[in-house]
Amino acid sequence: MEMDTIAAVATPMGEGGIAVIRVSGSESLEIVDKIFRGKQQLSTVDTHTIHYGKLVEPDKNEVVEEVLVSVMRAPRTFTREDVVEVNCHGGLVSVQRVLELILSSGARLAEPGEFTKRAFLHGRIDLSQAEAVMDLIRSKTDRAMKVALSQVEGKLSRLIRDLRQLLIEAMAHIEVTLDYPEHDVEDFTQNLLRNKCLEVKKEIGVLLRTANQGKILREGLSTAIVGRPNVGKSSLLNSLVQEEKAIVTDVAGTTRDVIEEYVNVRGVPLRLIDTAGIRETEDIVERIGVEKSRKLLQQADLILIVLNYNEELQADDYAIFEAAKGLPVVLIINKFDLPQKIDLEEVKKHFPDQPLVMTSALQERGIDLLEEAIAKIFFSGRVEQGDMTYVSNARHIHLLKQAAAAMDEALVGIDDHMPVDMVQIDIKKAWELLGEVIGESVGDDLIDQIFSQFCLGK
Ligand code: GDP
Ligand code: ZN
Repeated sequence: MEMDTIAAVATPMGEGGIAVIRVSGSESLEIVDKIFRGKQQLSTVDTHTIHYGKLVEPDKNEVVEEVLVSVMRAPRTFTREDVVEVNCHGGLVSVQRVLELILSSGARLAEPGEFTKRAFLHGRIDLSQAEAVMDLIRSKTDRAMKVALSQVEGKLSRLIRDLRQLLIEAMAHIEVTLDYPEHDVEDFTQNLLRNKCLEVKKEIGVLLRTANQGKILREGLSTAIVGRPNVGKSSLLNSLVQEEKAIVTDVAGTTRDVIEEYVNVRGVPLRLIDTAGIRETEDIVERIGVEKSRKLLQQADLILIVLNYNEELQADDYAIFEAAKGLPVVLIINKFDLPQKIDLEEVKKHFPDQPLVMTSALQERGIDLLEEAIAKIFFSGRVEQGDMTYVSNARHIHLLKQAAAAMDEALVGIDDHMPVDMVQIDIKKAWELLGEVIGESVGDDLIDQIFSQFCLGK
């Protein structure tokens, strides 16, 4: 596959002491050589070596930058193409100048994700890994990033491959049964098929149970913060916003923007929903009525109801209670630093099972309890497992659900003593669906696959 040579800044713009500009493609050495002045021509150096030198305007011979250049020849690179990485000073002006030099020497500015796309097209990573790189770029928190990283490293792919292997084994046994129909093979095959299908079904189930958390990590826990004017909603939001919003990744061709709509709470991204202005809903209930606001609130994964410790409950508070009834709520009693006027028993009567935290946004007190309550909702009592494999991608979830359904069909067929070649149809379907997760082409000759991996009679 011959492709043109692309270049892009691989580190976040305008930050950090050093910036990296990545060039990938068959002409990358040639292109950088036009502007690089060092001890050796880059096209003559060994692969995976670093070289000090200067970049010059080719016609003027005017020095633009001092640089370190890494040379990595295909195929041992992320894209499996020749890659040159130019390390230069991180300032915005110098980065732009270096990039422009490289572009005017013959490279094309890479599209977003294009390095990753090439890695996929060249078979360096599979589809789910490529998708995970995209997630990584977009991840809003450290935790979301870890999930994406583990997928980039191929954890999900390995799991999927293992499951497909089990299905291949099942299909191989079916082939044996079809070719050597002895009467007592059948029970044995039946049991073996059932066990393998049950195992695959169980594993898919485990994966799918992570899907909701994975989705939240990816997309954020959509959150509405509601309460009467002046109870302290904005102040609480400010207390929740943490400094570490920007996360830098060192995956090829990726930089990330800070997205302000997200609040990072212990690694759980809260996406502050802004449907018709309900992000901070001062007078939503008063304005549009209980029924309508309830509809809006139903779009949220989480509703933070803020009440004032220093005031008695009012009609508007009750209207909010009504609108949020039965929905996932955390009650925040703010202005805890002031004397109590609120009837807490009354609040608890409306929300007996929902977490309630006392805060003072002014004195920054109780914020940790609030964070804890939110994180608890996310993990829903589950112990957090650092190395868990999450599925978060909607396409993967859809395929996995279909594969689980195919497994169910196969199991019904096995238990009803359907002919094994009927069962095989469902097993093959699950195998293909799982293959789609990792982007494996399904056109391969199935039987060849089976017999290249198994010796008949063994
Ligand atoms: P919002 O209208 O609900 O967004 O409320 P704001 O966050 O704008 O706060 C309204 C006023 O209450 C501001 O003057 C805040 O400084 C004050 N305020 C917010 N939280 C607290 C608190 O915990 N204690 C006290 N005493 N005042 C607070
Ligand atoms: Zn406000």
